[in-house]
Amino acid sequence: MVMGIGKDALTQKSQTFDLDSSAIIYAATQKKEWNRTFRVAATLKQKVEPKVLAKAIADLQPRFPTLYVQLETGFFDYKVRTVHDTAILTKESAYPCRPVLVGRGEKPMFRVTYFENRIAIEIFHLVTDGTGVMCLLKSILARYLELQGFQVDKTDGVLSMSDVPSEHETEDSFKKLKCENTIKVSRNEAPAYKYFPQDKDNYFKLTHGYFSVVELKTLTKAKSVTVTEYLVALYAWAFYNNMLPEKSEKPIKISVPTDLRRLFASTTLRNFSLFTNVSIYPQKKDYTFDEFLQLAKQQMNEGFKKETLLSAACKNLTDANMAVFRYMQLSLKKAILKIGYALLGDKLITSSMSSLGIVTVPKGMGEHVDHFDMISGGTLKNFINCGILSFNGVMNVNFSSRCEATDIQRIFFTYLSERGVNIEVQSNVEQKAVNSTTMRHCGNCKVEFKDNHLHCPLCGRQGLASAKQPVCATAPYPEY
Ligand SMILES: [Zn+2]
Repeated sequence: MVMGIGKDALTQKSQTFDLDSSAIIYAATQKKEWNRTFRVAATLKQKVEPKVLAKAIADLQPRFPTLYVQLETGFFDYKVRTVHDTAILTKESAYPCRPVLVGRGEKPMFRVTYFENRIAIEIFHLVTDGTGVMCLLKSILARYLELQGFQVDKTDGVLSMSDVPSEHETEDSFKKLKCENTIKVSRNEAPAYKYFPQDKDNYFKLTHGYFSVVELKTLTKAKSVTVTEYLVALYAWAFYNNMLPEKSEKPIKISVPTDLRRLFASTTLRNFSLFTNVSIYPQKKDYTFDEFLQLAKQQMNEGFKKETLLSAACKNLTDANMAVFRYMQLSLKKAILKIGYALLGDKLITSSMSSLGIVTVPKGMGEHVDHFDMISGGTLKNFINCGILSFNGVMNVNFSSRCEATDIQRIFFTYLSERGVNIEVQSNVEQKAVNSTTMRHCGNCKVEFKDNHLHCPLCGRQGLASAKQPVCATAPYPEY
């Protein structure tokens, strides 16, 4: 059942916006059965009250004119138009990150779901990036708590409902970049090693690993690297170990998006991020993990420099602003972008690891939230992607995948647990939709999992009773 307050669109004022400079590729490549949809979620300490949540979603609509939007197709260009039908809340019942409805109707290009203690927003990437949608989630959460009589401060990315949306929030910050004198960026990149286990139709597996930031930092400090550098290197390491002894001439490439807002003083709620690729050629058979760490560190240091990011952003802008492209009919532009995406997009990376960093919440919210999730969703040609964040001292690393195989996830989490990090794993498949606090231990993978799972989410063994305390008060997933 869809909940919420449907409004007559004709009685509401609609605003129209050009797409932001990074959004056109999502518009051109989307289709009915797939679009680039990702999820952020909050697991609360209490069961979700759907009626209150539906009201909070409706109340926030005027505050986020560039997020409550639908796509319009013109002769030369796409536009987005503010829409007013906020009846978009449903009880979660299907696999996460299914495509959202694009180009039709008066509903926005995101959905909100609830299940037990969890509230999730799934949004088409055309609308915004992880930072933008996290701001929406926290603001809806603040309103939801206020409607129940709690006080929440308006800091840490929570916007006040009574404020008028500012121009800075609705701007395309890419267009404000100063592109004079930037260095030329080449588009010549080698295609990446592809991980292709057997995929499964109508299937989407999440594998969460929850663990202590302090325990992870013991490892990162010993190697003088950051948390992100360590986790990216470990992700590449998992592919490297999985492909051995098979030979690949192609590099393992992990795409790591970064938020540009802090570097370029922006508060936009639209897309404003860019990625850098960490690329490691796997021909050498006796790499050590320390070598992977050094390669990841070097490449991320270089890739995340302000001038490197600026040059890459400016190259994208120059291409999009070429007169021949600007005044081309949209159907032709779409065809060119689709070919470009097939040749360049997903082929250039093995997988992506998107980090939302440390999530903070304002005074009055923390006591109601157990943890947040960042679910990267599926790209067209990549069978596995990864989303990470930390909240309240707990890391939440989530792999989302279109296949049943868990070899990459298993190498990743077992590597950490063998080095003293206590890992709790959660899956959305082969589990019962009941809350559980009783833990089981898998000696094979050296991880814990709650006993609502039918077996160890990483290796399928039964596991033994464990006396360990859960890392998180996880909400189960529905049984599909
Ligand atoms: Zn196991």
